[in-house]
Amino acid sequence: MTTTASTRGGAWLVEDVAPGAIFTVEQFSDEHRLIARTADDFMRHEVAPALERLEQKDWSLARTLVQRCGALGLIGTDVPEAYGGVEVDKVSSIIVGEAVGMVASFATTFGAQSGLSITPLLCFGTDDQKARYLPRLVTGELIGAYALSESGSGSDALGAKTRATRRADGSYLLTGEKMWISNGGFADLFIVFAKVDGEHFSAFLVERSFPGVSTGKEEHKMGLHGSSTTPLILQEAVVPAGQLLGEIGKGHKVAFNVLNYGRFKLAAMCSGGARAVIGEAARYAKERRQFGQPIASFGAIRHKLAEMTVREFAVESMLYRTAGLIDGAVHGSRVPDAVLSALEEFAIEASALKVASSEMLDYVVDENVQIHGGNGFVRDYAAERHYRDARVNRIFEGTNEINRLLLPGLLVRRALKGGLPLIDGARALQDDLLKPSAPEPPGGLPLETELRTVGGMKKVAVLAIGVAMQTLGEKLTDHQEIVSIIADIVIDVFAAESAVLRAAAMAEGVSHAAARVFVKDAASRVDVAARTALAAMAEGDTLRALHDALPRLLAVTPANTIALRRQIADAVLVRPGYPF
Ligand SMILES: Cc1cc2nc3c(=O)[nH]c(=O)nc-3n(C[C@H](O)[C@H](O)[C@H](O)COP(=O)(O)OP(=O)(O)OC[C@H]3O[C@@H](n4cnc5c(N)ncnc54)[C@H](O)[C@@H]3O)c2cc1C
Repeated sequence: MTTTASTRGGAWLVEDVAPGAIFTVEQFSDEHRLIARTADDFMRHEVAPALERLEQKDWSLARTLVQRCGALGLIGTDVPEAYGGVEVDKVSSIIVGEAVGMVASFATTFGAQSGLSITPLLCFGTDDQKARYLPRLVTGELIGAYALSESGSGSDALGAKTRATRRADGSYLLTGEKMWISNGGFADLFIVFAKVDGEHFSAFLVERSFPGVSTGKEEHKMGLHGSSTTPLILQEAVVPAGQLLGEIGKGHKVAFNVLNYGRFKLAAMCSGGARAVIGEAARYAKERRQFGQPIASFGAIRHKLAEMTVREFAVESMLYRTAGLIDGAVHGSRVPDAVLSALEEFAIEASALKVASSEMLDYVVDENVQIHGGNGFVRDYAAERHYRDARVNRIFEGTNEINRLLLPGLLVRRALKGGLPLIDGARALQDDLLKPSAPEPPGGLPLETELRTVGGMKKVAVLAIGVAMQTLGEKLTDHQEIVSIIADIVIDVFAAESAVLRAAAMAEGVSHAAARVFVKDAASRVDVAARTALAAMAEGDTLRALHDALPRLLAVTPANTIALRRQIADAVLVRPGYPF
């Protein structure tokens, strides 16, 4: 393995990355901190108090809050000044996303505006389209929505039935029904995907005011009651020629690139949501008394608070590492093509983040309900709402199943194209395994043991992918269970390495404890996952040899994770809240 801070997506799987080579929260500039404070104040003082009215579907209030976001410069973080934005780096966009994640309903409204509506225009719009729409989207004067899904085509988005028929004057007639459209109830502009002549999947800019455009009733949802979700009905909607976004038949490029960025931003919102919930759980645990003492004094409760924190620490570390990678790849370029190719480059990381962050948040909100006991199950406490609101994150922006299936495929495709030395890595690993192993001498670096374990986890990932390529070849995609397990291994590698690299650059203490706990548990998960996948791909002596190799590759050193979690829980309770 080579030691670099590569800016290629997925390269960390086959490279050693040094502590200090990744971007972390601790490297925030004064400008980053200012953006964080502005967004945080706005959410705390203006959005959180408005939540009840938003839950009663007061969309004029939602519109006003979006406009306030615009005035504060929070919507146009990706938009050049020429179009009214404040174009800052992706780290700043993620900082805003995290702050907004504090109120999940508003985060959905905000995400549909700042990400799903603005990104396609920014990357695929003509100069005229950008000039007509971006400045008004950035201020919140126009509300945007993204209409891809239909009742019969969610995951299979390209199976859309909505048709666009070309007319002699160059305009289009759009007919069909889109489902589950966030901001549907009050959006002015919809990014609509339809098939030109029933065949060529394409994107269009459709205004609510166009003849034949209407929206249906609000969905009765499990959560996110403060966000609007409706169908979009197109009955021979008349869409002028200038409203085609991108090229005919290239709608998939618009849809999938937007989703790449959407997944990354969704991870920011999950991370911010988790931080807020950890604070809520810690405060409740300190106040609630049972058996004559605060429940925060019980080991079982402290374990939960620590574990919630450990998982969020890993997600936050992956998140800002990826933001730094994207910023590094874009090199400050304002050219949409540079941004687009960076988003494509880091599609592996975006999928990993989407899965890891949404599942982390579900764990955090679930344990928050548990810490609240009966109070967690009633509406008087926010824990119940957080629990309902979080669930959809595993469903939208590509379900977690779809993201798991995408991830190894992206890695294998890059390896086959020669962009990622996975095949050579797998071969070298098999040669290495035949040689007697000598323990590496200690070098005295912080978290060296954990870094070594992460190195072992990478080798296991490369081994599993190598065996999958050798034994299943092109049929790999038919074996979804194996693909999903490999995705889990890769996600755990990325999370564990990000957590350790970040902690290694911090002072010894709670961050080191969090990284050590995460790596220890991730290594165990990787071990089980690899055994399960290998047993489905090999048999007999080959399988036995592979199984025997795993302990040599992983070499996990024992650690007292109970004591480490106690140390983390102490820090959570002192604040009280997420301690980083
Ligand atoms: C609150 C909310 C807001 C939304 N906002 C928007 C929006 O603004 N714009 C928009 O366009 N859409 C939006 N959606 C739709 C959302 O993106 C879809 O629900 C999602 O993509 C999943 O599609 P589906 O519901 O049709 O599920 P399906 O695709 O029917 O999936 C059902 C199950 O099957 C699994 N599955 C499907 N295909 C495969 C496969 N090939 N292999 C293995 N498993 C598979 C899925 O993972 C899932 O578990 C929203 C949905 C909700 C609930």
